[in-house]
Order: sequence, then C-alpha cells, then structure tokens
Amino acid sequence: MEVPLNLKNTENARRAAPNMKCLADFVVEKEIGEGSFSTVYHAREKEGEKREIALKICLKKLILKNKMVTYIHREKEALALLSREENAHPGVVTLFATFQDAESLYFVLSYAKYGDLVSLIQKQPDAKLKVDDARYYAANLLSALEHIHKLGIIHRDVKADNLLVKHDGRILLTDFGSSKFLKDYEKDTNSNESSVPSRRRSFVGTAFFVTPELLTGSDMSPASDLWSFSVTLYFFLTGNYPFDDLSEYLVFKRIQDVLYRFSDDFPDENARDFIEKVLVKEQKERLTSDQMKRHQFFESMDFENLQEIEPPRIY
Ligand code: ATP
Repeated sequence: MEVPLNLKNTENARRAAPNMKCLADFVVEKEIGEGSFSTVYHAREKEGEKREIALKICLKKLILKNKMVTYIHREKEALALLSREENAHPGVVTLFATFQDAESLYFVLSYAKYGDLVSLIQKQPDAKLKVDDARYYAANLLSALEHIHKLGIIHRDVKADNLLVKHDGRILLTDFGSSKFLKDYEKDTNSNESSVPSRRRSFVGTAFFVTPELLTGSDMSPASDLWSFSVTLYFFLTGNYPFDDLSEYLVFKRIQDVLYRFSDDFPDENARDFIEKVLVKEQKERLTSDQMKRHQFFESMDFENLQEIEPPRIY
C-alpha cells in the first residue's frame, strides 16, 4: 500500500497548529517497510540534532475502513508513556512526535537500520540463531518486557517480528498496537458484567504466539507476555514454532492443550527446561520474570549491564 507524501497537506495542518511537527521538518530518504495500513520511511530531521528517524505514515481512510482506530490509539498512548524521559528503556522504540493532516497520521520513531529480527534470522544458516545469540536477544527482550510491565503495560503481541535491530546490533521492542494498560484490566474485573467483555475475547496478535488465556477469554497478565516470550525463544533456537499445525484452528487447539514437543536435536537442555517452565497453562504457575533471570539458561547473563554486552553480528 503506497502512502502519498503530500507536503501541502501537512503544511496546511501546521498552519492550524504551529507548534506541531510536519512533513516539511524531515528529509524523507526511502521507504523501508509496509504494514497493513501504514508505510514506514527512513527520514532525517532537517533541524536540531538532525536525527535519523523512522516515519510511520498511516492513512486515515484505511484505519477507519479496517476499524483500527483503537489499535492506533493504543499504540500512540503506550508509546507516549514509554517515551517520556523518565520511562525510557534502551530496548523499547521511542516515539519522538506525532502529527497529522487531512489524510494521514504520522509517527516519528527511533530508526532501526537492520529491520525486524525475524527477517534477519531467516537469512542465517539453518534459519535459526546460535544458542548464545538467542540468549542475548532473549535477555534484552526480557529486560524490555520487565520494564513495560512495571509501567503497567502488557504488550500482547510479543514475537521476533516486533523486534527491530538498530545500527549497533541492539534490539528495540516495537508495535504496541495490541498493548493494554493493566489498569484497564482492573476496571474490567471490577465491572458488573458477568461475562467476559467482548473486546477482551477478541483475537489479538499472531496465532503461533497466542496464549491459552486469550483463547479461553480469561484475564491476561504480564505472564501472558512471558508465554509469548518463550514461544519466541523456541523460535530463536529452532526457526520453528512450538505450536504449529495445518490451520489456525488446530494451532489454537494445540495451545489450549499445551501440546508441543522438542525435537531430538533441540540445541540446549537449559533452554528446554526454561521453556517447559513457562509454557504452562496456568498463568500463576509460569516462571515470573525474576525467576526467569535466575534460571540456569541465563546464568552467564549480567542483566544489570546488558548495554555493556557486545551484540551478535547477524546482519
Ligand atoms: P501490520 O501493521 O500489518 O501489523 P507492521 O506492524 O509490521 O505490520 P509497520 O509498523 O507499519 O507495520 O511496519 C512495517 C515495516 O516497517 C516493519 O515490518 C519493519 O520492517 C519496518 N519498520 C517499522 N518500524 C521501523 C523502525 N522504527 N525502524 C526501522 N524499520 C521499521
């Protein structure tokens, strides 16, 4: 889907709100990716720090047509909270600004030169990661998840596709469109509705990473992200998904029954034990993020100094 870069529109919008950024503030270099209702460009600020940025442009008519208004609001709200100086985390994408014009919404985001991690993994020999590289990315993802959970946000779409690789090889967690503020859950739980609210039942995320609680309409919690985190770790190490089958229905059935296996050549016994302790139906019985950090699999990982560890060069 091609999004028109219409300078006139954004300049008209700026006349209405002079302090807002607008398209004319950036030199747009090239298109770097497309989503279902957005196009992402590599761009550079014209003034100030002249930062390289990713400019995500979402067409309003497509957002309305696909009923994605809530999705966009969630993404903006979560990213705005996570991008406040006091909440910044090196493993989470930063939203520098948003603006809009008659046709489009614009997100000014930190730029990740090497794109998403899943595409890079698919280019590796055997289309999977070495154990140490998987451990490095998993540790950084866990640190980012722990951080957003402390701020009361559940991501709800954790997967390698939503990890972007920066110029220095470090990763950023992105795509907060499916995220949820924990306080919204409390509100839901305290409401008088006896049945599960329909929006909580709605399918959020990608089939392979879906949690048993989403399928049964139970409350999701930070433990839900940790389930998807373990599915992601399994993917890092094997290039496959633990819950895979011929149809989405069969994948969901496997997830509900927690029916998966490790191949004979699964590369690491500690990783296997770790995954087995997280892919557990009951959320309360899964390892917590603290227990995860203390697990044998992460024994060599200094979580306090992740920024000092040299990232793998898989690009
Ligand atoms: P969908 O909207 O269909 O779920 P998506 O979330 O991948 O897809 P976008 O957020 O528009 O959609 O991203 C499209 C592509 O642009 C991504 O797959 C990624 O390769 C690239 N991209 C997104 N954000 C950045 C960024 N900050 N830096 C570099 N590349 C990015």
